[in-house]
Amino acid sequence: MSLTTGTLYIVSAPSGAGKTSLVKALIDSEPLIRVSVSHTTRAMRPGETDGVNYHFVDHQQFHAMLDQSAFLEHAEVFGNLYGTSQRWVEQTLAEGYDLILEIDWQGAQQVRRLMPQAKSIFILPPTQEALRHRLTNRGQDSGEIIEQRMREAVSEMSHYVEYDYLVINDDFAHALSDLKAIFRANQLVQEVQQQRHSGLLGELLA
Ligand code: 5GP
Repeated sequence: MSLTTGTLYIVSAPSGAGKTSLVKALIDSEPLIRVSVSHTTRAMRPGETDGVNYHFVDHQQFHAMLDQSAFLEHAEVFGNLYGTSQRWVEQTLAEGYDLILEIDWQGAQQVRRLMPQAKSIFILPPTQEALRHRLTNRGQDSGEIIEQRMREAVSEMSHYVEYDYLVINDDFAHALSDLKAIFRANQLVQEVQQQRHSGLLGELLA
């Protein structure tokens, strides 16, 4: 177990901005960053795995967790309930990992109130047209549903001012490098380095 405490990051984006792919690429290359697996009442989509993408639960299980105050934050998004396990967040940070919560703006507001030291990042698409294109390319959905998703995306994006960092996903590699820069810079903050290198600092100042 590490002696340092990890940093908590919130990552939000409208659906279609590429948030999940960017976060996956980030954690694939950074062994000290973990991503929280939320609980949700939404139905599993093709290709998703229980316990990997989400912990899929029914309303009764979700409300039982709410009654036990098991969630650090929770919100209703597009008619489904989502929540982040408080115990898992606390344990992972205590083990020294940086931790990402991929949550919406409502959850972000709750986490900021409880943990003001959390860093928050908002990922934006390069244009409205690019977002529409990505939502359309997912297939399945009718034009009406896509227009509804666009309205929801604009409403989510209106919260960008509440975040510490903005990343524009115009080019995947560029956006990933921006994300990595945010994490790297925060790992070099004096208080964090002081904890990580206490032995070295003691020796240098002896
Ligand atoms: P999806 O169902 O498409 O995976 O996610 C829909 C929205 O719910 C996304 O904006 C996502 O960030 C948000 N979301 C996922 N997990 C959580 C969570 O635990 N808490 C909150 N507040 N939002 C979440």
